[in-house]
Amino acid sequence: MDSYDVIVIGVGSMGGAACNALAERGVSVLGLETYQPGHDQGSAHGGTRIIRQSYFEDPAYVPLLRSAYDGWRKLETESGRSIMNLCGGIYIGDPENPVFAGSREAAEKHGLAHEILDASEIRSRFPTMDPADDALALYEDNAGYVRPEETTIANAEVAARKGATLRFGEPVIWWGATPGGGVEVITPQGRYGGDRLIVTPGAWAPQMLADMGLPLSIERMIFHWFTPDFSAVPYEYWHEDRHPIYVEETHANQQIYGFPMTDGRDGGFKLGFFRVGTPTTANTIDRVVRDEENETMRDRARQLFPHLTGPVVQAKTCLYSVTPDEHFVVGTHPAHEQVSVGCGFSGHGFKFVPVIGEILADLATAGRTDHPVALFDPRRPALAAI
Ligand SMILES: Cc1cc2nc3c(=O)[nH]c(=O)nc-3n(C[C@H](O)[C@H](O)[C@H](O)COP(=O)(O)OP(=O)(O)OC[C@H]3O[C@@H](n4cnc5c(N)ncnc54)[C@H](O)[C@@H]3O)c2cc1C
Repeated sequence: MDSYDVIVIGVGSMGGAACNALAERGVSVLGLETYQPGHDQGSAHGGTRIIRQSYFEDPAYVPLLRSAYDGWRKLETESGRSIMNLCGGIYIGDPENPVFAGSREAAEKHGLAHEILDASEIRSRFPTMDPADDALALYEDNAGYVRPEETTIANAEVAARKGATLRFGEPVIWWGATPGGGVEVITPQGRYGGDRLIVTPGAWAPQMLADMGLPLSIERMIFHWFTPDFSAVPYEYWHEDRHPIYVEETHANQQIYGFPMTDGRDGGFKLGFFRVGTPTTANTIDRVVRDEENETMRDRARQLFPHLTGPVVQAKTCLYSVTPDEHFVVGTHPAHEQVSVGCGFSGHGFKFVPVIGEILADLATAGRTDHPVALFDPRRPALAAI
């Protein structure tokens, strides 16, 4: 039986970064992944993911974001791939809404450069948008997007170059702790031994971490790409050179988020509902998007983007793994100290990929990390089985 210092189950967003970080430390690492790098069956596809720093979810995420940004730059350099574009970000809401008020709190608490805009300033600066008259926005330059498929491919390439063994198309069907304090993993192709295990299975966590009994809700989410009316607002205003990423929720009108046009005039303007999914499982998700779903999205989106009137370019599903408090699950497995887990990224994990990789590598090699991870404790009360 082949044996490794660390085995990683799931070489997707987080597992790929963990393999890269471990290989860099000279650790012998085996990564096992059901699909191929850059696949579209989990949570890491669809072309773009928002990254931002004035984090309305909780200011405690800001130090991690600073580390993650350093990691994104490093991954671009090491892979030679274009992954990150800081085209700016705008977070719009009524004055009490967390999208606006929480962003401002995080920016002020951590001294992040930002501007506050009122509705008329938003309209004149970004002619695609027509927010409510009492809307306010926080705008920051240090936000934009990263490319998810490029990221997972880059992490796999760089990890392999540093010596990691990565086996794609090889699903893990069982793992367990061994009496000697190590682990054993079984796939249809073989059996592997390891001193440590990292389990990063994304939306397959209910199966791969069943013994933890985590209260995770696996949700079907949709990305929609619409064609704007370029005769009303010319293409250049929708393009990433002139348009930021955005999150908006005004007067409880259901949070949306989206991107500028990044893939040419015919590529569509991509957006989605934030945190409003339909419960499903990773193996049974309905991947067909219906016309009604596109039109419901368009009706909501046009409250902010009235000129989003052209044809639907495409629509795709994606999986969220949501915890009750929407904070991640990153830490040591409660029943096995040689096993670390990373899951439950609750629809906002991608921007943290490089730093989560470092944290998981810390846990696997030292049993602890200096990064602030108290929010993500697998033993926290919010995760107690209901
Ligand atoms: C619609 C949508 C929009 C999003 N927008 C954003 C955004 O703008 N910004 C942001 O920060 N985040 C965003 N996210 C969230 C982010 O993409 C996820 O939090 C992140 O990708 C989760 O990473 P992961 O490693 O847990 O899952 P994945 O990247 O899915 O990786 C898990 C991997 O484990 C593999 N696996 C599972 N079981 C096994 C097994 N038994 N054997 C071998 N391999 C296995 C899977 O095949 C998969 O490759 C969005 C997600 C979605 C769905």
